[in-house]
Parts: sequence; structure tokens; C-alpha cells
Amino acid sequence: MTKVDLLSLPMEELSLYIETLGEKKFRAQQIFQWVQKGVKHIDDMSNLSKDFREKLEEESYITNIKIAESYTSKLDGTKKYLFLLEDNHIIEGVVMSYKHGLTACLSSQVGCGMGCSFCASTTRGLLRHLKAGEMIDQILTMQADLGERISNIVLMGSGEPLHNFKEVMAFLKIVNDPKGINIGNRHITLSTCGLVPEIKKLADMQIPINLAISLHAPNDEIRRQTMPVAQRYSIKELIDSCRYYLERNNRRITFEYALIKDFNDKPAHAEELANLLKGLLCHVNLIPVNPIDEKRFQRSKQDFIKNFEKILLKRGVETTVRREMGADIDAACGQLRNRYLKDNE
Ligand code: SAH
Repeated sequence: MTKVDLLSLPMEELSLYIETLGEKKFRAQQIFQWVQKGVKHIDDMSNLSKDFREKLEEESYITNIKIAESYTSKLDGTKKYLFLLEDNHIIEGVVMSYKHGLTACLSSQVGCGMGCSFCASTTRGLLRHLKAGEMIDQILTMQADLGERISNIVLMGSGEPLHNFKEVMAFLKIVNDPKGINIGNRHITLSTCGLVPEIKKLADMQIPINLAISLHAPNDEIRRQTMPVAQRYSIKELIDSCRYYLERNNRRITFEYALIKDFNDKPAHAEELANLLKGLLCHVNLIPVNPIDEKRFQRSKQDFIKNFEKILLKRGVETTVRREMGADIDAACGQLRNRYLKDNE
């Protein structure tokens, strides 16, 4: 029998589960508060009877991920973690410190199946989805390590969050709960490579999180060269799903655009991008691409990046250039994990 992970259940589901054990509903509330505080042993739940704790122990457990390694940037204090999961898989997470507080970048899968050619997370493929509790525990473990509250979440670590839809939705419910970690939807950003049906599904749920789309190209021809998902959905379909999203959620969408030298960084590309995004409630985040060991491509030159930004701004598209964090600690998606796996092979 597979045991139930108490950390992966939103409050309503935990209530239903506790009822099946023949216990009163308010017990679920108590258990929820224990596990969301980071308690890892059912035996430590001191307001439950011994009999009930024993019964719970037989059927359930509490996800417990461990810090395998961590690195702190000397440049900006960004801290990067390699977490060891219970089945010995390795994932990564990052905490960045901004004026408005700590932002945690979380993984949603072990590896990734999307195959983007510039991304280190995908080089070994998708190994498995993370459970909601494993995403929650990344936050709890970081908070315990830092002794400080995390106030913002970005689902921009390894993995494609919309490919792991069910667990990511459970994660959002749990992390939002005022009796738990209590991070509001407006402080959460979900980044996707553009799974069109799931973007529509998310739109219909009307959860006021921030949506970010990894666009990285102004047209299908360029996009298909680096992102296999672009073979499944055209940019037109993707932008249509964004319009659908905006009709249901009046919240500005972010488009991420990693600038790769001599590939997608020309003035004509900026013009094409501006045409594509015309009239859309959105914002472009230009990312100087991080070169990764496994692939040969280079970052655009600084003046190309500046010029790209200038063209978009002139055309009325809100644009920012992403500030690089943790440049000295391999902080870009999947790089650290790859190095760790290589070293331990
Ligand atoms: N799968 C999701 C979320 C994870 S990646 C997505 O695709 O959006 C978070 C962001 O980092 C994405 O925009 C991704 O395309 C980008 N990224 C991946 N590798 C990168 C690299 N080498 N340099 C810069 N950005 C990169």
C-alpha cells in the first residue's frame, strides 16, 4: 500500500482523508498546521492521541527533503540549494533577496521533458513529477535554513509546471492557505514554455497568480529551432491562449525572451516581437542567455541587448532586462544539478 503524504494534501483533501480514518474534521486542521510548520514526525503532533498517531503512522507519512549541498553567492547573497529527495533524486532551488523580501525559485519536476535546447534542466529528460509536498518542502527547508520567511515564489526552477498540472494546483492551494505558509497568489509566478491547453485550463480556474510565458522567439521558424514545444503549438495558438487567459484574468502576462547571439537578437526580431505583442496586456523580460556546458551558443552582446530593449520600448512594449543573480554559483536552471550528477557518476 502506498502511504499518503500529509504534506501534499490541501486542507479540504486532508479533511476528507482524516474522516475516512473515523476522526473528527478539526483533527485535520491540527495536522495541517503541524506539517505546514515543518514537523516531520507524526509522533511530535502532541495534541493528537497516541492511538490516533499510531493509526496515522501506519497509513501516512510526511515528505522530508534534505539539503544535499548549498552555495551562497558572494556577489549578491543568492543561495542555491541541491535537495535530495526520498528516492535519491536531486532537484535544485534558489533563494534571491530583493528589496521586497525573499523570492524562492522552485523546481516542479525532476528534470524536464520539454527539451529546450538552451536549457540545462532538460539534458537528462524528465525523471518524474514532483508531488505538491515536495514543492512545499523546498520552501519549508529554505525557510528553516535561512531563519527567514519567504515572501515570493517563482516556479522557474527545473521542470515544466503545467506538465505537472494536478500537483502544481494542489501546491498553489496549500501555499496559499492562511493556516500554512500563507503566500498569496499575487506573490506567485508560474512560468511555462507554452502548453496551450493547460494555459486555457489555468485561465478558466481564475487564480490570480502571475503567468510568465517562455517565448524566446518572434516567429515559429526561430522558435522551432530551440523549443520542441513549438512544433506542437504555433505562436499564433500560444498568443491566442494568452488572449483567452487575459479575458478571464485581467493580469498582465510576462513574456520571457532569452537573447542568444546571432540567433534571435537582431533589430528585425525586436520589431517582429513588437508586432506580435501589440495591444496585449503584457511585459517582456529580456534574459541574457546563460551559456551551459552541454550546448554551444553565446550570450548577446550588451549593446545588442540594450538596442533590443530600446526598440521594444519605442514600440510601446513594456520591457525590462533581467538582472543576473548568483552568477558565480551556477544559478541558472539545471546547471548545478548537472554538475552534481556528473561528479557523482
Ligand atoms: N519550464 C518552464 C519553467 C522553467 S525555466 C518554462 O519553460 O518557462 C525558467 C526560465 O529560464 C524559462 O524562461 C527558460 O526558458 C529559461 N532558461 C532556461 N535555460 C536558460 C538559459 N540557459 N539561459 C537563460 N534562460 C534560460
